[in-house]
Amino acid sequence: MERVYNFSAGPSMLPLPVLEKAAKEMMCYEDSGMSVMEMSHRSPVYDKIIKDAEAKLRELMQIPDNYKVLFLQGGASTQFAAVPLNLLNKSGKADYIVSGQFSGKAFKEAQKYGDVVTAASSKDANFTFVPKTDRNSFRPDADYVHICFNNTIYGTKFPYIPDTGDIPLVADMSSCIISEPVDVSKFGLIYAGAQKNMAPAGLTIVIVREDLIGNAKEMIPTMLDYSVMAENDSMYNTPPCYCIYIAKLVYEWILEMGGLEEMKKYNEKKCAILYDYLDSQDYYIAPVEKESRSMMNVTFVTGDSELDKKFAKEADAQGLKNLKGHRSVGGMRASIYNAMPIEGVEKLVEFMKEFAKNNPKAN
Ligand SMILES: *Cc1c(COP(=O)(O)O)cnc(C)c1O
Repeated sequence: MERVYNFSAGPSMLPLPVLEKAAKEMMCYEDSGMSVMEMSHRSPVYDKIIKDAEAKLRELMQIPDNYKVLFLQGGASTQFAAVPLNLLNKSGKADYIVSGQFSGKAFKEAQKYGDVVTAASSKDANFTFVPKTDRNSFRPDADYVHICFNNTIYGTKFPYIPDTGDIPLVADMSSCIISEPVDVSKFGLIYAGAQKNMAPAGLTIVIVREDLIGNAKEMIPTMLDYSVMAENDSMYNTPPCYCIYIAKLVYEWILEMGGLEEMKKYNEKKCAILYDYLDSQDYYIAPVEKESRSMMNVTFVTGDSELDKKFAKEADAQGLKNLKGHRSVGGMRASIYNAMPIEGVEKLVEFMKEFAKNNPKAN
């Protein structure tokens, strides 16, 4: 069978050259005589893989030297607890911008551990935009401010980096990491589950400024303590070895194309094809305010839930997979991460035109 265009929000497409290289090295990695899946994480050959992975990610994102890169498990959802357990250590206060479901979950989890409030929210508008904030939006003694940079379910992205003054800014970047350059120095901590844009599920990346490490609550589970993970180079226990290896191949793939500037250009081109079409017609509705549109997750509806269902079903039959919107919002969502080729987006727009022609609405 031919490979399809997979618009899944995650796990999602991986670059074909990465899969091909992994397949080639599957049985025997270099001259180790074994698969990466089979080797000890303490072996010199694996040590080189994880060190290379970190070095490539540092190069790609231009991560300053005073930041640690951690390769963890548990998904972004585990960070919803790990962040407050590590960082709520001075005033015990944290301010959350709630711009979607994941930031809502992060907020709720953090409330278990301290004085945690919502600084701004777009819930009343069904999360169709990212709320604006300024320094006065946050409590000056907050230990950190938390945002979700790209809202996977609603298809919105922060059009700005919040100005928090001296308060460390923490960002969940699960669905937009390495899709474009970001100034890491503007953040105290960045975390991301790997399965959207980096690797198979099972790996979580944490990029954290060194001065924020080492003041965790005493009762923190060892596995969630950034200082333990940093001291042990992410090898306190067995790391998600194979995922880290695939992540390394993905970083190399982007570096070879010219880095994140080039990646951004490609992603901008892809999402413009979809948004330009959406803006040029009135059959489909794109609910997100233009300024807050995501480059990675593009949401739209027909306005008729039966038609939406038919759309996803017929698209699927044509090899355009997983276009059904998140179960909590309905409609359609095209997740077009780094690995989605431009041809996939072009094919989707062709299909959208056909579908609109063949399925006129009642009024
Ligand atoms: C997918 C996603 C999550 C949840 O990630 P898990 O790795 O499944 O825990 C959290 N935040 C964002 C922005 C996501 O896209």
